[in-house]
Parts: sequence; structure tokens; C-alpha cells
Amino acid sequence: MTNPPSTVTLTVHGIGTPVRPLDPGEDEVWVTVKQFEDVLDAVAGRADVRLTFDDANASDVEIALPHLVKRGLTAQFFLPAGLLGRPGRLTDENVRELVDAGMTLGSHGWAHCDWRQLSPVVRRAFRCRCERPVFFGNTRCLACNAELGYDAARATVCPLEPSGAEGVWRRHGDDGSGPRYRRCGNFNSAVVCSWLLEIDADAARVEQCRSCRLNRTLPDLSQPDNQRLWARVERDKQRMVASLIALGLPVAARSAEDAERGLAFDLLRGSAAPEPVITGHLNGVITLDIDEADDARREAIRESMDEPYRTVLGHLRHEIGHYYQPILVRDWDRCRELFGDDREDYQAALDRHYREGPPADWPQRHVSAYATMHPWEDWAETFAHYLHIRDVLQTAVAYGVSVSGPALAASDATPLYSYPGAAPDDLRAMLDAWFPLTYALNAINRSLGESDLYPFVLAPAVIDKLVYIDGLIRSA
Ligand SMILES: [Zn+2]
Ligand SMILES: [Zn+2]
Ligand SMILES: [Zn+2]
Repeated sequence: MTNPPSTVTLTVHGIGTPVRPLDPGEDEVWVTVKQFEDVLDAVAGRADVRLTFDDANASDVEIALPHLVKRGLTAQFFLPAGLLGRPGRLTDENVRELVDAGMTLGSHGWAHCDWRQLSPVVRRAFRCRCERPVFFGNTRCLACNAELGYDAARATVCPLEPSGAEGVWRRHGDDGSGPRYRRCGNFNSAVVCSWLLEIDADAARVEQCRSCRLNRTLPDLSQPDNQRLWARVERDKQRMVASLIALGLPVAARSAEDAERGLAFDLLRGSAAPEPVITGHLNGVITLDIDEADDARREAIRESMDEPYRTVLGHLRHEIGHYYQPILVRDWDRCRELFGDDREDYQAALDRHYREGPPADWPQRHVSAYATMHPWEDWAETFAHYLHIRDVLQTAVAYGVSVSGPALAASDATPLYSYPGAAPDDLRAMLDAWFPLTYALNAINRSLGESDLYPFVLAPAVIDKLVYIDGLIRSA
């Protein structure tokens, strides 16, 4: 058996005397013309070496290109598209020169932002006191047996140690200055809730954590099946609530914190109820049919409705979108410009949607077919999508997943330049990270014979809506 051929990729940044102020750390990867020529001479003719260039520095064309051409070499240039034409960077004309000379291009994002630094951050990967990885939802480390709990205010899974009084915990290694915790009242339930209550702050008044205390009605827990489905729903609800807290959005329980405008969840089981259970939102009360947590049942509905994506987490993020719309939106004219006039009769819109289906051109304007039903649904679908993007990106960062490709020629129909001019840098940087990541995730799923993990296309009009929501959340 022979080993598979391996390839070495040499990545070049800038060459020669820099003609623009360098970013921190950039000088460490900058090389002299002599160093660059030596490398080229060493690799010329070797099929196992691949040359790439990052960052769209002007030296790519002024210095590198003639040297490459002279030796008959080709290379791939990864360009941060938003920097083209800036001082010391390649121009559009330069990019054409590269292509004309037989070079290939790849995407290096938009503005060369470090999206690991995008805030606010909710962590998705954690370590125990024993340095082993532990996960959101864990209550005990399987390696060292440490008790674990989730501190929602600090968005972290903590290894715990007893702190004197019965049932009182503190962070492992705490010097006495850190918070004291109790476990959530749902720790000893089917949920095995991992969330902690900070003593002083909450624990005198409430028994349950910030996620669990949002519940108003639970299914009949004397039924083992209901326990299982409920626990599954809570897992996704915790994930969502953790994100909402980290995004700085108000998460007040109707039962304990804000009787008028607070949130409440009615978690009911449709197949066991005398009347149909309709998943939806009304004045701060979110009703969810926990049958949606039954994979076979949910998948059957997804098929029959011809939906590409249907999950419990998706439902929760959609319904919470309805809850936040009147809280976040101040400029209703702008909101209606983007999403349509929400004063349109809802029942009539619903009837029309199920009679006629979505308009054929919906992908140019909406994130999903359901979003075409009524402006409220468009908002909720787009809001849910925003939460999807933020969560997946944070998770990718937490696990060190960063995708800079694929090469432009191999990417799909979403053009690199399709960002609307109004997009602020933060959202643009997010989407820069997002698109290549989703191409990769879909490709990986297909490699396993699964359907696309991310079955969506974001048209420019949808990106405009995401930009709007991003702005509202950042100023919330
Ligand atoms: Zn451990
Ligand atoms: Zn809890
Ligand atoms: Zn809705």
C-alpha cells in the first residue's frame, strides 16, 4: 500500500517594504523579496507544493506576480473583498491581472475582521477543572466526577465544590469572593437542569433557574413519555435562553419578575389534549406542542408541509421573535418598509397562504416560504434565522472551526458582492464567516449521505432584514 500523496501549502502575506501601516502581528508574516525568491526557487517544479496568498496586498501583483510568471508557477489568491482598492491593497484591475495570468482566486472574507472577537459572546465549549472538555447541559464531569453547573449570567459551565451549607456550591478553586449557587429546582426532574441560581441575586424568591421559571404550564408528568418530550424541549429552550441573555435581550418570567410583559411558556402535548394545541405566541405567552420533540412525528409534519427545516429550537426561536418584535421595534415605518404592513388582516393572510401557497419568487424576498404568509411571520422567521446564525457562529468559534474557502469558482450562486450597502461591519463580518461555513457544513452532511444542514439561501433583501434586526438587538 502506498501512502496518499500529501501537499504542502505555503501561504504568503506581504512581500518587500510595506506600503501601508501593518496590523498587529502582521509584521511577523511579512517577508523580504530575497526570502520570497529563495522560496520560489526551492519549490519551482514541485507538484507537492501549493502556493497561496492572503490579504490582497499590493505586493501580490507588484512583486509576486512577475516572479511567479517567470518561473511558470501558479498560485491561489485569497482576497478580503472589502479591502480591494484600499491603500496598499490590490485594486479590481490588479485582480483581473492575476486572473489573466492564470492565477486562481479564493475568498478571504470581507474586511479581514477577527470574528472570534465579535461580541456579545456566549461560550459553547467549556473545560472542567481536570481540563477535559465538558458541554452545555452537563451536570457532572465523567472524567473526574466534579459536579458541574451552568452560570447563565457569566455564560459558562463551572466545575463546582461544596460551600459549607447543605446544597450550596461555589466555583471550584474559588477564593471566597465568587458567587454562591444553588441548583435549579428542576435538577431533580426529568430535565436534570444544569442551571445554577446565584444566592443573593435570585434564590431567595425563586426555586427555578432563569430558563425553567419561564414555564407556566407543563404536560402531565405522570406520563413517562411526556417527561421525555418535555426534557427534550427544555434542552433546546435552555440553549435559546442562554443566547438571549448573552445578547442582552430582556428575559423576565411572567411568574416571578414581570407579571405584565414577562414571558411564559405553556408546554402542552397535542396528541393527548382534548383540544388542538397550536404552537404560537400571544401577548408574551408561548405555547408549544411538545409532540414536536418526537422526531418521527415532527419529521412527518415537515414532509407533509414540504419544509426544508423544522426543529424544536427553530420553533422556539420563531415564537420568541414574535415576543420581541413589539419590544424592539421603535421605528415602525422602517419595519414595515422591510417586512410589509403588519396591520394586514392576519386570518385573511393565513387563509390565502394555505389556499394559494407562497408566491413563486419568494426566495428573492424571504428567508422561508412561511415568511410570506404575513409580515409578522416574516419578522419571526427572520429573527429566528438571526439567532441561528449567531449561535452556529459562536459554536464554530468555540471549537476552533474557521472556514475561509471554498475557492470562488467552486462556491454557489451567492455572489461575493451581494451585501447591501447599509450592512454595518459587524453583520457583514458575521456573514463573511457564515457563508463559507454553511457551504462546508452542507458539503460535510452530503459526504455522510445526509441532506443539507443549512437548506437556506439569503437573498440581499433578506440580508437587509437581518441587518435591521441586528441593529435593534445591538441597541437593546
Ligand atoms: Zn473533570
Ligand atoms: Zn432550570
Ligand atoms: Zn409565527
